[in-house]
Amino acid sequence: MIKKTLISTLLLLGTNALSNINVTTTIYPLYNIAKEVGTDKIKLNNLIPFGIEAHGFDPIAKDMAILSKTDLLISSGDLMEPWKNKIVSSLKIENKVFDMSKHVKLIEIEEKNHNEHDHEKDHNHNSNIDPHYWVSLNNYILMTKVITQLFIEKDPVNKDIYKENSDKYLQKIEALKIKYDTSLNSCKNKKILVNHNAFGYFADEYDVKQYSISGLTPESKPSAKVVSELIDLVKNEKINTVFFEEFASPKVAQTIAKAANVKIDTLRPAENISKIENEKGYGYLEIMEDNLEKLKFAMDCK
Ligand SMILES: [Zn+2]
Repeated sequence: MIKKTLISTLLLLGTNALSNINVTTTIYPLYNIAKEVGTDKIKLNNLIPFGIEAHGFDPIAKDMAILSKTDLLISSGDLMEPWKNKIVSSLKIENKVFDMSKHVKLIEIEEKNHNEHDHEKDHNHNSNIDPHYWVSLNNYILMTKVITQLFIEKDPVNKDIYKENSDKYLQKIEALKIKYDTSLNSCKNKKILVNHNAFGYFADEYDVKQYSISGLTPESKPSAKVVSELIDLVKNEKINTVFFEEFASPKVAQTIAKAANVKIDTLRPAENISKIENEKGYGYLEIMEDNLEKLKFAMDCK
């Protein structure tokens, strides 16, 4: 009996060592989920380097090498990754691509503040779909379940480990979701001015009005006329905070906040984090938790 157990343990260990799947993710939230669910059972690469503004990413030779070896490319969708289809077909890895945007609930973007950026062709603005679906905790829960299922299909030997990791992570996400729900049900001024239109899913779920400085892409510069309209908006709508984000210039937000005499603060769309944050284990949930505190202040919630 002991001998049999030993043999099956050895067999299991052997299979485990061989079953490391090579997973590549594009944007940070996908990486964070894959890291939590896959742990050391997968070899994980995030294509978009830490610390850069995710919308502006374009793969280089090193990324092509990573992609050519991957067993699974988890993509956020064509809107954030306009470069994807061409590269995937040139590397002939079509059957390894998993498009997460086809598995979550998508909403359309409001067109306001958007006509300014028609020249930004490389961000695929033809569609009205808002690509930032991960700022919804409901979608993030869905994404976690989908990635768990995906890993189990690709690597059934480690099914129990993926399932256990996933359940642990889902509990944390769901606890944060309850915190959001209870914290945001009694706010006096549900209006936010953010750097770019990245919080539409959050706004939709919590009945918040989102205004943005630069439309759908973080680095677009609004005209002087738009800036002056935004200053009036802050004053008229009694907005107490102008939000900027880590990986884009805060200059316009500073100008507006100064002119309207209100606070300036960061609100992070979780599109990326810095390398140091990732090493420290700071991730999507911590970003969302920090965001919540700032939102509570900005929207005057109890
Ligand atoms: Zn964005």
